[in-house]
Amino acid sequence: VKVHFESDGGLLDVFSKNEAVHAVDGVNLDIEENEVVALVGESGCGKTTLGKAAIGLQEPTEGTVSYRGQDIWETRRGNADRGVPYRKIRRALQIIHQDPGASLNPNKRVMESLERPLKKWKPGLTREKRQARILAMLYRVGMTPPSDYAYRYPHQLSGGEAQRVALVRTLLMNPELILADEAISALDVSLRVEMMDLMLELQDAFDTSYLFISHDLSNARYLAEKSGGRIGVMYLGEIVEIGPVEQIIHDPQHPYTQVLMWATPELELDDGSRERPPVRSIDIPDPQNPPEGCRFHTRCQKAREACKRTPPTFDVERGGEVACYRADDDHEYWESVPLEGASR
Ligand code: SF4
Repeated sequence: VKVHFESDGGLLDVFSKNEAVHAVDGVNLDIEENEVVALVGESGCGKTTLGKAAIGLQEPTEGTVSYRGQDIWETRRGNADRGVPYRKIRRALQIIHQDPGASLNPNKRVMESLERPLKKWKPGLTREKRQARILAMLYRVGMTPPSDYAYRYPHQLSGGEAQRVALVRTLLMNPELILADEAISALDVSLRVEMMDLMLELQDAFDTSYLFISHDLSNARYLAEKSGGRIGVMYLGEIVEIGPVEQIIHDPQHPYTQVLMWATPELELDDGSRERPPVRSIDIPDPQNPPEGCRFHTRCQKAREACKRTPPTFDVERGGEVACYRADDDHEYWESVPLEGASR
């Protein structure tokens, strides 16, 4: 694994290269303070691996991971030059899982599950203050009366309630970045918007950034649109396009982003048509053995001979970036021969 986070003054920067399991390769991502970044892509594209690397839960085999310019893993080993202690970095970077059960002990009441991390991070708090803080936070996420929910067991909560408790658990840490890994996917459709609204409302109140991972482009659009954030599109371990909603949804540059648009019935297509998939092949290559060059070239309708070499990343007019030769006016791509089955 080669993952490299560098700071350019933002909250978190990510650059990764050549992950051994090919889950993440050549990703460059920076997350600013109070920003929402929604990562989308098919399952197995490396979203979760990237998310875990971003919050320091997965160590890269090569490269660095920085929080506010400070190498997370070197800090953990006690070798960092700068002064933020590792435990503070750990507290600042939190996660909400798809399955809220992952953060709640089935044998403990909600209050007990929530007190445990608070005891660890705020050992000076008295029991009364700890519990008062937890009750206030349960109230804040709409679990009223909080004293009722605080003494329930996880099996006495609905999926939506359990996910709210998981959100409370992360917020009690006063995090700077929350990785929400498919955090609303298991909820009923009717509850998803409610949960996303709550997360955004709390983002504002707590000055938190989100790295939101989803296979659903319409959810990513909702979050990015409401927060003014960005959407990143991943394919076979790479971020192939990233940018604001105006780019990704209204003017997608990468042919794979266009495929995701086509595959998301809730989103309107500019040409209004979904007649046939905008790909040459529906077969997804093996992520363990991705194609050379542009990884999408085996499926891309716009693929040409030039695409057998890896494209660099180009800046896009609407503010984002795309890794596709079509974004480079001068490149030999435009003169090279279309690959078999590709359109001219
Ligand atoms: Fe398609 Fe070529 Fe762009 Fe890759 S670089 S997405 S193959 S046009």
